[in-house]
Amino acid sequence: MKALVYGGPGKMAVEDRPKPQIMEPGDAIVRITKTTICGTDLHILKGDLPTCAPGRILGHEGVGVVDAIGGNVTTFRPGDHVLISCISSCGKCYYCRRSMYSHCTTGGWILGNQIDGTQAEFVRIPYADTSLYPIVADADEEALVMLSDILPTGFECGVLNGKVAPGSSVAIVGSGPIGLAALLTAQFYSPAALIMIDLDDNRLEVAKKFGATATINSTDGKAAEKVMQMTDGRGVDTAIEAVGIPATFELCEALIAPGGTISNIGVHGTKVELHLERLWDRNITITTRLVDTASTPMLLEVVSAHRIDPKLLITHRFSFEHILEAYDTFGHAATTKALKVIIEA
Ligand SMILES: [Zn+2]
Ligand SMILES: [Zn+2]
Repeated sequence: MKALVYGGPGKMAVEDRPKPQIMEPGDAIVRITKTTICGTDLHILKGDLPTCAPGRILGHEGVGVVDAIGGNVTTFRPGDHVLISCISSCGKCYYCRRSMYSHCTTGGWILGNQIDGTQAEFVRIPYADTSLYPIVADADEEALVMLSDILPTGFECGVLNGKVAPGSSVAIVGSGPIGLAALLTAQFYSPAALIMIDLDDNRLEVAKKFGATATINSTDGKAAEKVMQMTDGRGVDTAIEAVGIPATFELCEALIAPGGTISNIGVHGTKVELHLERLWDRNITITTRLVDTASTPMLLEVVSAHRIDPKLLITHRFSFEHILEAYDTFGHAATTKALKVIIEA
C-alpha cells in the first residue's frame, strides 16, 4: 500500500509499505477513505517531537471502512464506516477510568507518532472498540474528519477548560484550524464577546464568518491594549491560547480579567514566562490539557444534527497521490489560505 513516511527532520516521502495486519485481539484494520494533515504533523517534520521516529507513517485523523477485526472486537464489523479518534484508549487503565484517555498507559496519542498512522491506504487501530466511532449511513464523512482531532481539541482544551459561560467574554489567540474549532464550539455557551486575534487578515476574515464578534490583527503589538478598550478595561473572562509560542501565551497573560481563565491548547516547544508579579493577586486559573476526545460522541451528535458545520474549515482537497502537494499547500497557509486539507483515497 502507499503511505506517507516521515524520514527525519525536514524529510518525508510516499513509500510502498506492506498492508498492516491484526497484531492484538483488540485491533481493527481500517481502509482510509479520507484523512488530513495536522499542524502537529508539521511539528514532527521540524523535528520537534522526538517520540516520532524516522520510518513512521504520519497522520492521526481520518474516516474509513473497517477491513478486518481481531477476535476481541465486539462493536465493529468489516464494512462498517468509522471515525478514527486521534487518541487510542484501552478503556481500562487508571487514566481511562477517569476519562483521561490522552494519558492511557498503553495508548493516548500514539497514532502517527509511536505507531503507524492514517496517511496511508490502511491503518491498524489498537483498542478498536474504544478508539473508533460508528458513522451513520448518510453522514457527511468529510465533515467528520474534523472530529478526529481539531474539534474535540478546541472544545475540550480551550472551551471546556476555559469555562466559557453565557454572557462572558472570550479572546482566542490564533485563528488557525484549532482556534477556529474553539470559536465554533465556544458558541455552544453563547458568550457575549468572542474576540479573535491573529497576524493574518485572511484568517481573521474567516473568523468573522465563523461567529467572531470582533477581530484584532496583532502585528502592531497592541492587541492587549485593544482588548482592554473593548472590555471596559477589565480584560476577558477566558483567554484561549491556540498557537504555542511564548509571545501568544504572554499575550493571554496580558489580557486576562481578574477571576478569568487562561486555557492553553498550543503545543509549546520552549519555555514561557509566567508573570506572577502581575498575576499573583488576580484570582486567575491557568489550564493545560492534551485532548482526551471524551467529547467526541457529543460532537458527533451536534454535527449530525447540523448545529455546527465543521466542513467550513476545509479549504483544499487532494487525491492521495498528491499528498506531498497537500503538505506544501498546508505548510504555506499564509499564501495558500489553507485551513484544513482533505486527502482522499
Ligand atoms: Zn492533530
Ligand atoms: Zn487506558
